[in-house]
Parts: sequence; C-alpha cells; structure tokens
Amino acid sequence: MKKLIALLLAVLLLAGCAAEPTNPVQTPESGKAAESTEAPETLAPGELPKPAVIERELVSPQGKLEGCGLYVKAVEGLPEDFIFGMDASQVPALEASGVKYYDAAGEEKDVFQILAENGVNMIRVRVWNDPFDAQGHGYGGGNCTIDTALEIGRRATKYGMKLLVDFHYSDFWADPGKQMVPKAWAGMSLEDKEAALFSYTWESLAALYAAGVDVGMVQVGNETNGAMCGETEWSAITRLMAAGSRAVRAVFPEAKVAVHFANPESGRYPTYATNLKIYGLDYDVFGTSYYPYWHGTLENLTGVLAQVKAATGKDVMVLETSYAWTTEDSDFSGNTISADSVVDQPYPYTPQGQVNHLRAVTQAVQDAGGIGVCYWEGTWIGVGGASREENQKLWEQYGSGWASSYAAEYDPDDAGKWYGGDAVDNQAFFDAGGRVLESLMAFNLIRYGNDVALEAQSLEEIQVRITLGDPLNLPETVNAVMTDNSRVALPVEWNVDAETLEEWSAAVGSHEIRGKAGDMEAVLHLSVEGVNLLENPSFETGADAPWVADNLGGCKELMLEQKAGDSLTGEWHYHFWSPDADKVEFTLEQSPAGLRTGSYSFTIHIMGGDCGEAEVYAYAKLDGQTVGTAPMEITAWNEWHAGTVSGIRYTEGQTLTVGVYVKTNAAGAWGKIDDAVLSLE
Ligand code: CA
Repeated sequence: MKKLIALLLAVLLLAGCAAEPTNPVQTPESGKAAESTEAPETLAPGELPKPAVIERELVSPQGKLEGCGLYVKAVEGLPEDFIFGMDASQVPALEASGVKYYDAAGEEKDVFQILAENGVNMIRVRVWNDPFDAQGHGYGGGNCTIDTALEIGRRATKYGMKLLVDFHYSDFWADPGKQMVPKAWAGMSLEDKEAALFSYTWESLAALYAAGVDVGMVQVGNETNGAMCGETEWSAITRLMAAGSRAVRAVFPEAKVAVHFANPESGRYPTYATNLKIYGLDYDVFGTSYYPYWHGTLENLTGVLAQVKAATGKDVMVLETSYAWTTEDSDFSGNTISADSVVDQPYPYTPQGQVNHLRAVTQAVQDAGGIGVCYWEGTWIGVGGASREENQKLWEQYGSGWASSYAAEYDPDDAGKWYGGDAVDNQAFFDAGGRVLESLMAFNLIRYGNDVALEAQSLEEIQVRITLGDPLNLPETVNAVMTDNSRVALPVEWNVDAETLEEWSAAVGSHEIRGKAGDMEAVLHLSVEGVNLLENPSFETGADAPWVADNLGGCKELMLEQKAGDSLTGEWHYHFWSPDADKVEFTLEQSPAGLRTGSYSFTIHIMGGDCGEAEVYAYAKLDGQTVGTAPMEITAWNEWHAGTVSGIRYTEGQTLTVGVYVKTNAAGAWGKIDDAVLSLE
C-alpha cells in the first residue's frame, strides 16, 4: 500500500502538481489532535492519517540559579520565540549502549527533559535514507533514520519542544566534502530522483504527523555547498530541494522549510542565495553552520547573514555550532578539537568558554536579525567503556560511534578508514558520566543575564620564539582570561634559573617553562630556532622566487595562493589541485646560496585532502644527488604535517637543494604547502 501511495504521488508530481492532501492538514498541537490513528490502507493518495496525541509534560525553564558562577551578559531584545535548538541525534544509540543522563542534582532524567528545563526549545535530528548494509548492520552516527526522528520527536514534543528534521538525502553523513546519493536512488534520472525524494520526504513527515510530533522546521539537505544527493548543478540541486519543500508544505504547512550551508567565511553565500532565487525555490530559512575554529569571525557571520536576509527577505539562523569545554578525550576516539589543534580559539576550552561562545553567536545572529541558534550534538558523550576495544563493540553493535566498520561499503575513503567513536565528547553539555554541565544553563542565562563578579578562569599560554644568538627575556606578566573573556595582566614568577636559561638560549631546541601567577600555573613554550637560511620561506613575498615548481604530472592548479585560512602562517602558501586522477606529481624546491660548511636540518609543511594513494616527502639533494628524505602525510584540511630531513652534511662549494615531492592518484586531490626552514643544527 505504501508503495502504491508513493507511485500515485509520483504520478501527481510528474503531472506537474504537488500532492494536495484531501483533508485540511493541521499541525498537531496539544489538545487539537484527533484521538486515534486510522489504518493507513483507508487513506486516499496524499491523505494524512489522524495524528496521535502525545501527552505533554511541560517543564518551565529554570531562571537564574543562585550560586551559579557563570558570567553571562544578557543578549538584549531577544524575542520570546528565539530558537535555541539542540541537535540530539545520537541519543537513542547512546542510550542503547548504556548511556544515562543526570540533572544538576544528580538525578537520572530523560535528557530531553533536562534540555527543556535549561531553555532549549527545538530539537534537531539528522535523517538518513538507509544507513545499513545488506545484512542490516548500521553505518553508525546513530544509524539515524526517520525512526530515530520518530523516537526523538515524541520525546521532544512531550517536553514542549519542536522538532527540526534534518534530511541529508543520503545514506550517511552529508557535508561540504560529500553529498552521496542514497543507494536506492543511484543511477536514477533526475526526474525519477525528484519523484523518489518527494515521496520519501512526504512519507517520512506523514509518519511524524501520524505520531503527533510537533515539527517546527524541516531542512531540505545538510551543508549543501554546491552539491546534494549526488547532484552538483544548481538547476538539479534546487529541483530536488523543491521536491522536499513541496512535501513539507503538504504535510506540515506551519513548519518552516530550511536550506543549510557551511563556510560563512567563504564569501559564497550571496551566490547560493542568488541560485535559490533564480530557480525559484520555496523556502523560509537560510541557515548556516558556524564552528568558530574554522568559520571566520563573528563580525563576518553577522555581515553574511544580514546580507542574505536583506537580499532574499528570508529568515536566517545558525543551524549548527559548538564549542569545547575541555581538551580531554573521554572515549578513546580522538576529538576534532584537542590541546594540539591549530585552530582559531576565541575562548578557553572551559565551560565558561563554551557559554561565552554560545552567548557571542546568539548576539551575532541577533545583530543580523536572525531567528535562532542550534547547537550541534550537545548530548553526544562517550559510551563509557574502560577501553577502546570495549567501546568499539558498542559502536559497532548500536551505531553509537561516528561511523562503524560497516560504513566502508558506502563511504570507503573516510568512514571506511577512520571509523570510530565520538569526536565531539568534549563539546557536549554533559560530562563523561552523563552529568549535566553548568554551562547548559547558558540558554536560559543568555535571556536574563547573570551579572556575577568576574573571575580569572585560566591563563593564556605564552609562546616565546627566539633565533639562536638573540637575547632571551622572559615576560614579567601573563594574561589571565576573565570569565567575560577580557584579559587582566598578572605578575608571574617563572620556575627557571639564569644558568639553565643561558644554556637553553645557546642551542636550537624547545623547552617548557612553568610559573605561578595569582594561584594559577603559567606555561611558557620556549623555542630557540636556528637562523632560517631559506629565502621566501613562507611564500609571503607573494612571488615564487626563489622556489621552483616542476609540474611533472600536469596538475591543473599548481601555484601560489593568498588565503590566510589555508596558510600555516601568514597569508600565502603554495597550492595544488587536480580534477583528474593521476595528474598530481610535482616538486617544489629551492637552492639557497651563501651557505657555510656544516650540518643542516630542513623542514617543510603540508596539508590537504582527497588525495587517495599519495607519495609525499621532503628531500635534500647535494649537487643533484638525494642525500635525505622524510615521508609526509596528507590527511585533512588544516591538519598540517611536517617533514624534516636532518643531518644534511654540506661543504662549501656544493649546491644544496631542498624541497618537497608530491604524487597522488585520486581525482580532486588538493593540498597546501607552507613554512619551510633550513637551519644549522
Ligand atoms: Ca572522543
């Protein structure tokens, strides 16, 4: 019967008219819904079943809490209906794995009740078409389907929160790097895919409608930066989005239809908005991800959202954001953000830092005239096993990690290689034991403010870099980061004697110096570097010379590029990209003049992605003969890897050439090279 409905819907769709429900559709609201669900067999095509009633257990958001030490300046003029969302997609898989959640009093509670009490008013859930292999093994990431949305939707509705349904239109994670078509739709013509997408969306939403779930918003696609559901032409993408949008209008006419993009710092949002307009997409909300580590400044976020709102007349909001409250990993599966991450870090990784981030994003959205902020997976904590092996079993069995080994058949390059647990357990609002963090109160406190006395919450770590032979002076003060993120200089005493300092400053090396400021421990990273004998070592002259690139494989793009966000330091780096496989093979090298006899060390850095099989190494040559190489890796955006060739024995009169060799086999391979150093050892 279901198939028949789908077929009839498809016929209606192809005939050029959206499926009109034969009975007036109402959003299920408390007290309004009919009593029972009729058997679906009696429904006419496009007709919706009568919704079930979900018994409400409404909670009042807690106001200010006495004794709460979090400093929060209220965001003035925040509308009553401002959306504070929480993506909680992973919760059912975590609970199946044994996770429990506890409120501030230590009482075990439904996590959705805890969220509602803390001012969350919308719950987001990702929906994949079919995240299972032929044997029924889940790909992980919560194995999220419309059934997951049903469970989460019922619980959200029970506690008075609306549901935001996030259709990825894929069988697994869809993001700017991948927008793979669902298995069942592979090879379909655009027309057939459009019909399938409409039916799938309609049936999924009809199930939520029948269950009495209060759906407030529906995303047609997830981070669709120029691709969706295997399509990469805007004419095709928008046709599919439009099919999703028609299904939302038919089932939940009160719900908002949202589109979702990532990388507000890219400058591409006006183009996206223009494309949606050109192809006449019917939608309400233009949403963005905003992860402050990578996505530019808050000023830029406000500017971009305000610009889109002005140009389109649509609502704007942040659909995903998050911030780390600790650098500790709690589930033996590495985190996206750790102490070693080289990313923008506007706040300390503390609960107060997490609050300051949320407050600042809320202000930025408010300044743009936006309608809300949705936090991403603030409930995704580790599954609690005592070892990686123990956790791995749960991840595989319940899909409670980000990807299981079974995902390899669908996503061999990413999930197939890196499957594992939780990469964001340190960005949740719950600790490893499931106990709520004080920072979850931010959603309430941002409305009211919490004007407590400022305190120093941490000290800024200090980096001191000197070149061999330069004088070494340690700073006399260190900045304390206050709870409002302002800085106060405190006098510091370093635990190091003059003799040791003299010794350290006389040789190349790295050292850590500890000290005391206030009652906190200060940390100083001292780096004594050899004189860099390369010219233009970080490409900051904006010219190639004296670097020489030899494009052995005919790589399409091999050139200097000016983009600070893709550079290790400064604004410039060397860039490569090839749309075709087996074209990337090149060397980038220079031969410095005026060296004296001695032993040298050479280092160069690279990052990139989509490289497939890659052979990458730093090298040194004397009079054209290779005398040393150091293998390097290319893994992901912003993961810089260094290659160091040491012990290069040079005699005056020889020609020393240092550089990097890169060869990859995959189509779409790209990378960035930056910061080379040649120094005496
Ligand atoms: Ca982890």
